[in-house]
Amino acid sequence: MAKKQTVSKEAAHLQGARTQVLSELENLRSAMLNEVDTEPDEGDAEIFEREKTAALIAVLERRMQDIEHALRAIEKGQYGICERCGNPVEPERLEVKPDAILCLNCQREVEAINKRNRGRAPIRW
Ligand SMILES: [Zn+2]
Repeated sequence: MAKKQTVSKEAAHLQGARTQVLSELENLRSAMLNEVDTEPDEGDAEIFEREKTAALIAVLERRMQDIEHALRAIEKGQYGICERCGNPVEPERLEVKPDAILCLNCQREVEAINKRNRGRAPIRW
């Protein structure tokens, strides 16, 4: 397949991103650990910082899942195929977001569903 070369480029890209996210996660987690000793009366700013760090960790963990998902798709030879409708994911989209597992259409639909279901657990593809 003529696409093979692109895929191995994407794999390298994803592995690079994975390493980066992992080290960021490590930094944030150790920052959280160091903050455990702070006094409860240090004020709202401190709590706010902790919440910000926790939120960032959650975002990175989610991103990590997407990256690993995409790497598995490459292994299975299904990279670049939308997991929801089976159509190819737009190459421009993969360029910007190499860990995309949905085509733009499905991504929009899933986001719309999650918006309507606000407060409930988001559906995940
Ligand atoms: Zn789709």
